[in-house]
Amino acid sequence: MARIEDYAPIVGDGAVDTIRRMAEIIKGEKAVHVNATSYGGGVAEILSRMIPLARSLGIDVTWQTLKGDIDFFKVTKKMHNALQGDLGASISDEEFKLYLKVAAENASMLDLGADVVVIHDPQPLPLVRQRERGKWAWRCHIDTSTPNEAAWSRLEPMVRMYDLAIFSMERYIPKRLAIPAIIDYPTIDPLSPKNAPMKPEEVEKVLERYGVDPDRPLIGQVARFDPWKNPLGAIDVYRQVKAAVPGLQIAMIGSFARDDPEGAEWYERVVRYAGRDKDVFVLSNLDGVGDLEVNAFQRAFSVALQLSNREGFGLTVTEALWKGVPVVAKRAGGIPLQVIDGTTGFLTEGIKDASERVALLLRRPWLARELGERGRRHVRLNFLITKGLSNYLRMHIELVGKMG
Ligand code: UDP
Repeated sequence: MARIEDYAPIVGDGAVDTIRRMAEIIKGEKAVHVNATSYGGGVAEILSRMIPLARSLGIDVTWQTLKGDIDFFKVTKKMHNALQGDLGASISDEEFKLYLKVAAENASMLDLGADVVVIHDPQPLPLVRQRERGKWAWRCHIDTSTPNEAAWSRLEPMVRMYDLAIFSMERYIPKRLAIPAIIDYPTIDPLSPKNAPMKPEEVEKVLERYGVDPDRPLIGQVARFDPWKNPLGAIDVYRQVKAAVPGLQIAMIGSFARDDPEGAEWYERVVRYAGRDKDVFVLSNLDGVGDLEVNAFQRAFSVALQLSNREGFGLTVTEALWKGVPVVAKRAGGIPLQVIDGTTGFLTEGIKDASERVALLLRRPWLARELGERGRRHVRLNFLITKGLSNYLRMHIELVGKMG
């Protein structure tokens, strides 16, 4: 596990010293983070690196996850979709009751007695009803800018019970939110197995293991198999570009998150859509694609795609940019914070537009390199774990009233 000083060569001594000083202020305090799953998706990704790093600084913080069965996670996924604006997703009274019941059961199993409790996303939101002590913050990672009003009005009374809400973008803050809200960008860990430097031989080995030709161009999208991520759109882009670049390959890398019951269905759809094309690789954690493999694939992409129609922030974009790979994406959610059009990649409106940009970057490797380098700098300045940890420590200090 990396120690805080290991980050100094990347972000500078000043940033590391500030973190150490803030950690000193809250020593002796207890903090808890709760989310729905220990594996799969951006939140698990962030917490799995942030919590051990905070603990290595002497902070007494734990990471706990919900226990629930498939029916519970079906309801919470529906809620997730509804909050992201799915107007068709309606939650029945019975489903809502189940949601509250499972949350209440979890509240009695989890250890929530802490000075600061941070609840991530809607799944564990109702835990606040069993709050005993401490300050509670709700960290919402999804795009709630145009929520399904019926779903939001069910959750809103519980949101009000928090001391603070945290969103990934200003415009995600729901209108008439009754509690204070702040913005915090998600971040990646440059020293994690997913993002640490890799030798070209190691990258090549991974490609060969999956039958990808390292001598032909490769594009790809890394994302959960999920309708919002638009995996079929990514394959459409590949098909359009392939007409001009016959050797092109695409890797569709997706994982099955424990809290996402839609994964299997969407995986099947992607496989079916890919058909018999041997240059389309649909791979998942079930094929042994873990952090190291994702790292290798992202490094091997000439261009990374992120064609999501909705996206909270899009850590996969951050990860690709950090590897110096330009990203062609749709203008969804937090993507425009990262993909600065014409500077770190291209923002596109549709398949045709995206295909033209991908083809352009394949024709002009020097342009791809330039955008990739700027992307890496952009991530170093804004979206690395040291920034996320500083923000989190500052929030803790403010919540418990220890500001100097
Ligand atoms: N991820 C992964 N394997 C996959 C697909 C995704 O490890 O096959 C990781 C990805 O690298 C990223 C996270 O899951 O770190 C996804 O976060 P993001 O913010 O992009 O989307 P979310 O899944 O939270 O909607």
